[in-house]
Amino acid sequence: MARAGKRTAAVVAPSLSPAGEAPLASLPGVGPRVAEKLAARGLLTLQDLWLQLPWQYEDRTRITPIRALQPGVAAQVEGRVEAVERGFRYRPMLRVAIGDDSRATLVLRFFHFRAAQVAQFAPGARVRCYGTPRAGQHGLEIVHPSYRVLDPGDDALGDRLDPVYPAIEGLGPVSLRRLIALALDRLPEEDALELLPPHALAGLQLPSLRSALLTVHRPPQEADVAALLAGTHPAQRRLALEELLAHHLSLRRQRIALQQHAATPLANGGALVERLRASLPFALTAAQERVFAQVRRDLAQPRPMLRLVQGDVGSGKTVVAALAAMVAVGSGRQAALMAPTELLAEQHVANLRQWLEPLGVRVAWLAGKVLGKARRAALADVASGTAQVVVGTHALMQEGVVFADLALAIVDEQHRFGVHQRLALRDKGAAGDSGRVPHQLVMTATPIPRTLAMAAYADLDVSAIDELPPGRTPVQTVVLSAERRPELIQRIRTACAEGRQAYWVCTLIDESVETGASGHARPGPGGGPRIDAQAAQSTFEALSAALPELRVGLVHGRMKATEKQATMRAFKERALDLLVATTVIEVGVDVANASLMIVENAERLGLAQLHQLRGRVGRGSAASSCVLLYQPPLSALARQRLETMRETSDGFVIAEKDLALRGPGELLGTRQTGLAEFRLADLARDADLLPQVHALGEQLLAASPQVAERLVARWIGGAARYASA
Ligand code: ADP
Ligand code: MG
Repeated sequence: MARAGKRTAAVVAPSLSPAGEAPLASLPGVGPRVAEKLAARGLLTLQDLWLQLPWQYEDRTRITPIRALQPGVAAQVEGRVEAVERGFRYRPMLRVAIGDDSRATLVLRFFHFRAAQVAQFAPGARVRCYGTPRAGQHGLEIVHPSYRVLDPGDDALGDRLDPVYPAIEGLGPVSLRRLIALALDRLPEEDALELLPPHALAGLQLPSLRSALLTVHRPPQEADVAALLAGTHPAQRRLALEELLAHHLSLRRQRIALQQHAATPLANGGALVERLRASLPFALTAAQERVFAQVRRDLAQPRPMLRLVQGDVGSGKTVVAALAAMVAVGSGRQAALMAPTELLAEQHVANLRQWLEPLGVRVAWLAGKVLGKARRAALADVASGTAQVVVGTHALMQEGVVFADLALAIVDEQHRFGVHQRLALRDKGAAGDSGRVPHQLVMTATPIPRTLAMAAYADLDVSAIDELPPGRTPVQTVVLSAERRPELIQRIRTACAEGRQAYWVCTLIDESVETGASGHARPGPGGGPRIDAQAAQSTFEALSAALPELRVGLVHGRMKATEKQATMRAFKERALDLLVATTVIEVGVDVANASLMIVENAERLGLAQLHQLRGRVGRGSAASSCVLLYQPPLSALARQRLETMRETSDGFVIAEKDLALRGPGELLGTRQTGLAEFRLADLARDADLLPQVHALGEQLLAASPQVAERLVARWIGGAARYASA
């Protein structure tokens, strides 16, 4: 793709559609103050408002009888005021009971209100309101509904769904809707707006951009309401396609830009590589050989390598990294290995020192806790080139860390870092080296399905270590109802009596709530904040009491990093038998002696997370087991997830299954992919569009790079600035 890249670079500033380029101040009612508020959210031009898409709809086209209301399901109701109560017990409160012909009562509850509002709710007045009912003290209630007191004869219902837009600070929803409507009035004709080639759309039976925008902003009366609410309407799919394409192009562009830089070809490490290989106590698996060969080929190029190695937990990524580092060192240059946590980095430095120091390779260690004299010494070794391999945490990227000649940057567990940090490590090599950048090798233990890899890692080449080293006994997984918890005490006792160690994993409420793309808290897979979880602390106390003969430790996310690490280290050094932990142990610890893991409330965790957790056992030769405890009753989806865990231990199979099982709204978090946030696209829901996105992206880059530029500018705009590095 470097060819296409050269052409991209030759194109002058893209010409944007003039109508879309118009500043928002050109709209009536947009003075400097409003413009400033819009600009704070990145909304500068008319086009930005066209693409400010509703994230939800409210259905005011019909009235639901109060009796038919369901908790948690938003609806419009109409009734007459039956009673009004004003209270001040803890804080001001207004409760208005309304009743309708279904002879049921609904309470509207307000915590903020004005006197004029109270006066409106005269007994007998007709009120129409919209909101999400929930169970209150006396039947259903809606807190702060949007409402209207009706005049006689005022009966007209809405004739279309009302779009709900992401809130903009300092701008009410009504004003925002008005502005978007004004901007839409200036939508140009189809030809002026459309950037996708007609053949791409025809095949998928998707509408034009103009028609799609009008549909999502102003759903026509006859529109398929259910599809719109689910985000699967052809208009939404059309927009998702274009948005995914823009992101894909942006990543590709980033890659192309990086590959315009020169890198040092590393081709002289042969002897050192062979010495390392010969000293290893095992032979590489075929998959390790294949991936290392790919890496080696990349390293020999005068362009920077940009390669992601996906490999299941325990597949042996570290040794591939070490071999790659030997190619750099053997070529007289430095390699760095960065891990997301101190514990992981420490494991790496221990492994690498054990493997490399006998070969005469000097390994430096640089983490946040390396301070004072040791730090100064490490920094000096890194700067002088005395240290040939440098291992550390993100401390490696801090200012003040200067490499003599970094030629290979290896990043472990990439999804914890994200694109920006990767770029920062890359920049460490660029300084004072005539614009050369280091080769990059990224390793992740979170396999993601092939289709998603295309979208998430369009800026990287992907290899897979899809085979485990021989001699591993597969982890036996059982799924049990939490009622059987007492039996497990005996099981732990037995395992520890045999000199083994065990994990007990508790899932805590606050760690199960993820923040989705829209920035709204989303409940975890099993239901979220309302579910009462076993707090790690109380489990720790209970298990300590039940197993007085065992040494029990506790780690959770609220502890200080130093405390956490001390406990993890104690477990690793066998000073503890049982480790009670939250999901913080998901990444990192490698304790081969641990052969039993119990996961509580397993139904609340996603497949990827369960897989990561389970990977903590079965790392040695002993037969290991993993017990997944669930809180009955199990939903059908949760049952399938746990079944999958029981049936397979293949991370790639699990990843595919995970994607298939994800319900709408359960996003593949940006945390996991390092991807930017989407306005409308949802990687899980829209996964079937990705092959199309990929193909279209390659076509555009090759044939019409200026159109590609316009697509990126349209959807990503300023956010893509870092991408043009
Ligand atoms: P991960 O891919 O999860 O980072 P590691 O690199 O930590 O896996 O490897 C897991 C364990 O397997 C380590 O103890 C490592 O030394 C060992 N190992 C790696 N490759 C092989 C192999 N080809 N044969 C046997 N053991 C191996
Ligand atoms: Mg690893």
